[in-house]
Amino acid sequence: MMAFFVSDYVFACKYPFSQKAKMIMSESGMVFGKEEAEAGLERILSGLGKGIKGRTIIKESDGQKELASYAAARMIISNMRNRYVTNRMAVAESKRAFANLSGAPEAEVAAISGEVGVGAALAAGKDRMQIGVAQFLLFAPKDSHYRLVSRELESGRVGITRHEWVRLIEEAVKKTYERIPEPHGEPPEEVKACIAKISATLPKIEPRKISFGEGEVPPCINSILATLSRHENVGHTGRWLLAVYLINGGVSDEEIVKVFSSAPDFSEDITRYQVGHARNKRYMMPNCATVLAQGYCVAECGITNPLGWRKGMRPKMREAR
Ligand code: SF4
Repeated sequence: MMAFFVSDYVFACKYPFSQKAKMIMSESGMVFGKEEAEAGLERILSGLGKGIKGRTIIKESDGQKELASYAAARMIISNMRNRYVTNRMAVAESKRAFANLSGAPEAEVAAISGEVGVGAALAAGKDRMQIGVAQFLLFAPKDSHYRLVSRELESGRVGITRHEWVRLIEEAVKKTYERIPEPHGEPPEEVKACIAKISATLPKIEPRKISFGEGEVPPCINSILATLSRHENVGHTGRWLLAVYLINGGVSDEEIVKVFSSAPDFSEDITRYQVGHARNKRYMMPNCATVLAQGYCVAECGITNPLGWRKGMRPKMREAR
């Protein structure tokens, strides 16, 4: 039996997806009962709400309860098979990891970076980090800021700042969380009860969709909408493009908020504020050349601005980047 210090528990609770957390969990021989199920339920409801707040770890039992809540939440989600809940929890857990990593010492960031497959190292003789192109492309957030064309490249490695390094790790943690394992057999009664309680909260937070008929919006906008409808994150620029397109297309703030309600990190208040702000600023829809430079143009439509799109147009789709 391995012995763990409180510092091990502190680390494992900050990063419950880490190998150390898995080792502690497997050594502790945790059994899934009512108490663990309730802790998992509480974690999920926090993740779907205002975000996960970790408990303060003073002694071993605090750490065990915290890790049990993570494992139980995964078990509930695995049995629930609800993409919306899974993706929102992936965002909540990865944001928590980001917050913890942002103020963490270099060695701690490097340890987690290696575990989630991001890698990255200080560039020799420089004050900047470097990461392999493949890892960069795999974990770069969907935002024009992270486009490869605007990056410093050296011997197949991409230059990034420390903040960007932590942001890439956040994306990797999110992707890891989204790969939820398949459930084995019939879930225990405690899990079924938790699923029922979570489901009961969903009508208030379940995304309210507005639909566009086939071919009614240009391919770039359709692609952003498709990402949102899968409850996947859209980068800041993509969200802005969608909001400005809809505002310029005469869609009301209320309806635009409904469109964004599919985002896994949706906040009604923030979305309403941002849409109102974009409307007050009277932002114009950028031309296709700008949308292309921002990485959101997915077809050649033969028009100069997405607002010039008309149903029935036959665009030539671009190859995926
Ligand atoms: S050509 Fe214009 S309208 Fe068509 S996908 Fe690209 S940006 Fe959108």
